Amino acid sequence: MRTDTPSNTIRRRGVMLVLSSPSGAGKSTIARILLEQHEFELSVSVTTRARRASEVEGVHYRFISRREFESLRDDDELLEWAEVHGNYYGTPRDAVEKAMSEGRDMLFDIDWQGAQQLREKMDADLVSIFILPPSMAELRTRLKRRAEDSDDIIETRLENAKVEIERWRDYDYVVVNEDLNKAFDEVKSIVTAERLRRHRRWSGMHGFVSDLLAENIA
Ligand code: 5GP
Repeated sequence: MRTDTPSNTIRRRGVMLVLSSPSGAGKSTIARILLEQHEFELSVSVTTRARRASEVEGVHYRFISRREFESLRDDDELLEWAEVHGNYYGTPRDAVEKAMSEGRDMLFDIDWQGAQQLREKMDADLVSIFILPPSMAELRTRLKRRAEDSDDIIETRLENAKVEIERWRDYDYVVVNEDLNKAFDEVKSIVTAERLRRHRRWSGMHGFVSDLLAENIA
């Protein structure tokens, strides 16, 4: 019996999974569960935004000054960057390039501007999912329940949400997060299918199929 089945011997290219959504649509929760299940490694962004009480430096973000951000950006150390709600956010290049070259899967919790830049640079590796809230009223309720931002900021986030939502067409997949378990299952199904795509398994699959065809079945 063969022991070197495709599932345990074939290396594949890593998946760059981009999750975007307006704040409060549930993207961070879905991302957290994927990370807890060791499905992905998080691309830890740098940001000039102030740290929230629930956030840990180096885990959720690296919190840096505007000067530090501009210096990383100008030295081309960011794979993509954007200004969101008046703050800078960016993806450090090194960690992504290392993970990709080692065939590891990375998760990007970034906005549409960042997704667009990554799409231009890494198209074949990228899988993008847009998460929609079931309604704007529910989005407002979730932002208020989260109690992490002032009323003013919540109103800005709702206005920005409309601009963000208009970008849904640019994404490979769209998931409506009405029920978290269902939305998470849908994201998992996308991930499973994408990991099996031929172009990601190309190099290893060649050897496997040659062996398969050469196998003596008499
Ligand atoms: P928050 O301040 O709520 O953590 O994030 C605000 C928005 O910035 C979210 O839509 C989040 O996905 C996005 N964001 C976080 N990190 C990055 C990044 O490195 N690049 C880009 N383009 N957007 C980011």
